[in-house]
Amino acid sequence: MTQNSATEHPPFTLPVTKCKGVGPRTELILRNIGIATIGDLLYHFPRAYLDRRDIEPIASAQPAQQAVIKGEVTSIRLSRPSRRMNITQCVVKDGTGSLKVVWFNQPYMRRSLPRGTKVILSGAVSDRRGIQMENPDVEILSDGEEVSLHTMRLVPVYPLTEGISQKQMRRLVHAALKEFSTFAPENLPKSIIEGMRLVSRRDALRGIHFPEATDEIKASRRRIAAEEFISLQLCMQASMCYSTGTGIAQNSLPRLTAVFESRLPFRLTDAQKRAIAEIFRRMESPTQMNVLLQGDVGSGKTVVAACAMLKSVENGRQAVLMAPTEILAEQHISSLRGMFGGTGVPLALLSGSRPASEKKATLELLASLRPCIVVGTHALLRDKVGLPNLGLVVIDEQHRFGVSQRAALHQKSIAPDLIVMTATPIPRTLALALYGSFASIVLDECPSGRRPVVTRYVHESERARMYKFIRESVDCGRQAFVVCPEIGEECDSGARDIAGVSGMFTLYMKVFPQFSVGVLHGRMQPEERERTLSRFRAGEIQILVATTIIEVGVDVPNAAVMVIEDADRFGLAQLHQVRGRVGRGQHESYCFLMGEPSTEQAAKRLEIMTSINDGFQIAEHDLLLRGPGEFLGVAQSGSPKLRVGHLARDIDLLQEARKIALAVLGSDPRLERLENGPIRLLIGKDQPGPVHL
Ligand code: ADP
Ligand code: MG
Repeated sequence: MTQNSATEHPPFTLPVTKCKGVGPRTELILRNIGIATIGDLLYHFPRAYLDRRDIEPIASAQPAQQAVIKGEVTSIRLSRPSRRMNITQCVVKDGTGSLKVVWFNQPYMRRSLPRGTKVILSGAVSDRRGIQMENPDVEILSDGEEVSLHTMRLVPVYPLTEGISQKQMRRLVHAALKEFSTFAPENLPKSIIEGMRLVSRRDALRGIHFPEATDEIKASRRRIAAEEFISLQLCMQASMCYSTGTGIAQNSLPRLTAVFESRLPFRLTDAQKRAIAEIFRRMESPTQMNVLLQGDVGSGKTVVAACAMLKSVENGRQAVLMAPTEILAEQHISSLRGMFGGTGVPLALLSGSRPASEKKATLELLASLRPCIVVGTHALLRDKVGLPNLGLVVIDEQHRFGVSQRAALHQKSIAPDLIVMTATPIPRTLALALYGSFASIVLDECPSGRRPVVTRYVHESERARMYKFIRESVDCGRQAFVVCPEIGEECDSGARDIAGVSGMFTLYMKVFPQFSVGVLHGRMQPEERERTLSRFRAGEIQILVATTIIEVGVDVPNAAVMVIEDADRFGLAQLHQVRGRVGRGQHESYCFLMGEPSTEQAAKRLEIMTSINDGFQIAEHDLLLRGPGEFLGVAQSGSPKLRVGHLARDIDLLQEARKIALAVLGSDPRLERLENGPIRLLIGKDQPGPVHL
């Protein structure tokens, strides 16, 4: 997928084949790493730099330092001191002397560096067996090479794909810069560039690829991060539509709230009471309410939202609760039905797969302006759905929605009050920077009886032991979840995932013939899903094998064992969510993480899961671990990509960008002013007009 073309102008939109050196073969290879246009190529940034500014004469290479030398291979041989180890030894000489170079367990070196090869080596010098360089990076110099690109400078190191080498990539980027960067249109207004002391876009592109000095890398990255953050903030601010202006004062006397509270099967926690009081106060005020309600999984956000919706109904308004998946919407409606029984409040569900007659009835209810509560999925956003009497919008699992979807809901009505709930807590600093205009309310206390889940990594070789543990737990009356990964969204999960979950289902049925094993995934009919879940709730199913559709909301206190298969394939936030399905009753609960992490990051994630139970702490780690932009799902939501800007590291810049975005939209909401032309380019708008995604 090409990344820039949507928001760019020529020359950035030109196909990459316009660049010198890119033929049909290279074009295909580049496509693998998302490069289709000149813009994509210029925005394919180095992941690191090698400092090759100072090539040292061999004679002065000292032990215990990093050195870069340039010379010619005079001899090379491979030896095998033991079965496990082989050593490639080579001697490299320059005009000042010669140096022994060794590589451990890289036997292919011998063939790639025949005698006479001219090389640049950078690596550590030791004096283990006389002075020698160990495992250096190698760059082979061919005759007549534009030496200046690959040596004697800060050399960019790019993310690559099969079929293209570092050197080729450097040459391509260099050629593209030379030919096209002069015409790079500026996408930030002069006032911002000056105010933030940024370098120009052209200089930043050159400086990030082929910097003259380390300072230049910093300045260039800062400039590009600023672009990314400003466009992210513009889109977020604009599409949240929080008008700080007038909303609805929902302040009629409460009639039902007390009944509602007294009918709950539990007592509200103090945190819940505080949150409800705060939300009520804001709903009563004539200013539109924007609340970010955060709480760890299981902290009981739903009942807080239910109170707020009830208040809206008492005020003669309609309230909607929007959930990211059908299964979660179904879960919500069934728990709301439980909570609202006896209050007489009309409740309805609107989701894609309900029967047409039911949908029609719900739409009529909404159109009738009668006070009611409607739970729904994206179906609530369809054009046909009118929401003329909306008093409150609650968005659950906010991170799963695209910004544009939120905007669509908001545009349907006059400024209703808004609560966004997130189960992936957002670290405080980031919440401030992204949701600064929201009042943040935190449920910092879980209902009593909730306990930390004992979490262990289980190696494949210990699978049998784990089965034994499950058997004993189920024999004691507990239930277990088995969760398998699922790629993509519920609606378009591929056959592969279904195969995955069916395979696991078969396996668990074989292993536990004495128990009732069930299966749950997104491709099942809603009724069947509902039936399976209620059988699990009722204890008729003892082991439930499921995809991550159970990740949110599903609530079965008797389930005390969670097995996560291929846990290395899940993100941290998701692992925490999934784990949150257990530890909800009075029983000690366990979570077993299976799978072989193949990357350092995956291993780190599993390690964090086994040592931390607190969602807020996990979120902090998540933010640091994940690549820029992945956190919060901003990557999927259609808002700008963050390639350089890092939500955790660059928080100051993010704050600055927020102020700028607010100022720009405050003074020129339709981006009509001449000086804001570059901003339109930045967010891909051809014409002036209201900003949304
Ligand atoms: P989350 O914040 O993860 O969305 P939920 O709102 O789904 O949490 O609540 C999780 C479970 O805790 C539900 O079964 C709910 O009925 C229960 N619950 C909520 N508040 C309390 C409370 N104060 N005491 C006991 N159980 C509660
Ligand atoms: Mg929830």
